[in-house]
Amino acid sequence: MSGLFAGTPLEQPVTCPRCNRRIGDCTCPRDDQGKLHDPAQWPARVRREKNRGKYLTIASGLGLREKDQKALLAHLKSKLGVGGSLKDNELTLQGDHRDTLVELLKAQGYPAKPSGG
Ligand SMILES: [Zn+2]
Repeated sequence: MSGLFAGTPLEQPVTCPRCNRRIGDCTCPRDDQGKLHDPAQWPARVRREKNRGKYLTIASGLGLREKDQKALLAHLKSKLGVGGSLKDNELTLQGDHRDTLVELLKAQGYPAKPSGG
């Protein structure tokens, strides 16, 4: 069928395949090229450190930009009910939550594993 609209680009709403929102409203993590961040590609590691007698649980290798690291940190802090901070592309949470943090990251799609002692 040819007609009045022949030759005009068909305008399609571009939606995000992950959240189904329009691209302008999508807040899914993306890389610098605008490609969706795929947690399955990032084997995150969760380790534990002792600092002045207190444990810290540290997640690294998430492959997120800073803005998205902050969003994930906020999510993990509220899930664990503890404080935390972001430094050198690592998420640090207060207390010993290594196993729980591994599970929380797995729930986000990361093939996360505990590391260290
Ligand atoms: Zn999205």
